[in-house]
Amino acid sequence: DTIGANFDRTAAAFADREALVERATGRRWTYDQLAAEVDAVALGLLDLGVGKGDRVGIWAPNCAEWMFVQYATAKIGAVLVTINPAYRVHELEFVLNQAGIRTLVAAPAFKTSDYAAMIEQVRPRCAALEDVVLLGGGSWDALLEAGRAGDPGRLAGIGATLTADDPINIQYTSGTTGFPKGATLSHHNILNNGFFVGEGCGYDQEDRICVPVPFYHCFGMVMGNLAATSHGACVVIPAPAFDPRATLEAVAAERCTSLYGVPTMFIAELNDPSFAEHDLSSLRTGIMAGSPCPVEVMKQVIERMGMAEVTICYGMTETSPVSTQTRADDSLDRRVSTVGTVHPHLEVKIVDPETGVTVPRGTPGEFCTRGYSVMLGYWEQPDKTAEVIDAARWMHTGDLAVMDADGYVNITGRIKDMVIRGGENIYPREIEEFLYTHPDIVDAQVIGVPDARYGEELMAWVRLREGAGPLTAEGLREFCAGRLAHYKIPRYVHVVDEFPMTVTGKIRKVQMRAEAVDILG
Ligand code: ATP
Ligand code: MG
Repeated sequence: DTIGANFDRTAAAFADREALVERATGRRWTYDQLAAEVDAVALGLLDLGVGKGDRVGIWAPNCAEWMFVQYATAKIGAVLVTINPAYRVHELEFVLNQAGIRTLVAAPAFKTSDYAAMIEQVRPRCAALEDVVLLGGGSWDALLEAGRAGDPGRLAGIGATLTADDPINIQYTSGTTGFPKGATLSHHNILNNGFFVGEGCGYDQEDRICVPVPFYHCFGMVMGNLAATSHGACVVIPAPAFDPRATLEAVAAERCTSLYGVPTMFIAELNDPSFAEHDLSSLRTGIMAGSPCPVEVMKQVIERMGMAEVTICYGMTETSPVSTQTRADDSLDRRVSTVGTVHPHLEVKIVDPETGVTVPRGTPGEFCTRGYSVMLGYWEQPDKTAEVIDAARWMHTGDLAVMDADGYVNITGRIKDMVIRGGENIYPREIEEFLYTHPDIVDAQVIGVPDARYGEELMAWVRLREGAGPLTAEGLREFCAGRLAHYKIPRYVHVVDEFPMTVTGKIRKVQMRAEAVDILG
């Protein structure tokens, strides 16, 4: 199926049900109304001359128009390029040229960034860029006007020429470990993945999904939007960019049944001073994903937020994204401490990263997956694609995992984050989990720093609870002594208010490692 065909079927089946709520403006749409907006934008893009395979960029924080453009481009077979709202001028220029964007739909400004000025600055150097449409401006109104006057019959005609394997989306990875790469995804990739995520959460037309995670990333646009529209559920946008209080307010006011977030978002919500004021009793499920999900945080989400059926997903942009998910009927222990079992219709193997040989259950190795979810490739980067997808179409994720006898997977970290101290392989994740049990620590991240004697030494970066006393390296070592093997006890401690993060809310250990070298002199 194509995304457009699937969306139209849902819109017809659930015409009068609510499809989308934008809290910042109070606007709301039923499926019927949403379908009309999508068609108007699709016809408006056709009127601009956008055709099948043309790249359409979207550069905006979460808003309703973002979703209109997502479905409109899918309907006309254009390739949506989702641009990170935090990009600065040189990154914008890179993506416009790398993806060959023909039409750019952008917010005029966001936070301290004047998008319109940044676009004008790079425009002379972006040969492919023909049209810029600024949301809320005259060019957007003109697009809608042309679209509303257009002939809907054209869309049906185009729909018949599209196939599910056409590229439909270029999504840049989070840039957690280096420069973002443009994963090229098809209808088949992301529509199926969104559908199976929705199945994993047990969605139907009664569900209302609060999506504070960014749309420009697959967590928002696939696990949020596509999971919702393939099940007739409603998407609630709490705010343009993540705000813990606005998220809690949205859940309470809209009686949301599901809430998404990366671990840092849930931590911020649980620690928000207003937490107790919000009635979260409507919450049934949700998804925590994107980076290692601490057991303590999962427990609190279940107990204090009432998300009894919350699931953990593991995946990456290159795999549409989800590969594994926990289930509501898994044991509590597995639901908080594993990333679940392999999603339907996917193959997984865990291999020795050196030899490529599959390792026995219980042994750590690189997580590899094959099946419908694997991207077409990195956009115009065949060499990079060949580094991660082998001849047999296995995607090598760069993540270390262990699968137990029953098929439950544990992600032990990224190959790149593994620390080798004096010949011992150390998985920072294990130490981070332990540090969360310290009464004063609300968030902990462990990295390796260069060391003349051991090759690498461990450094813990921690965020402390408000009002907690100072935490010294000696104090922390005392806390760890006897409870962690001596070589896993961090040598250095660095207390921070915030970790360096990507816009998707992921902690950038590359940057921490660079800063640590300066801190340690
Ligand atoms: P880049 O590839 O640009 O460095 P990135 O890998 O963070 O950035 P994404 O595709 O957004 O970009 O994230 C996928 C990665 O996030 C996975 O490879 C994995 O390392 C991590 N991840 C996702 N979900 C989980 C999870 N539930 N537990 C642990 N790690 C996770
Ligand atoms: Mg990655």
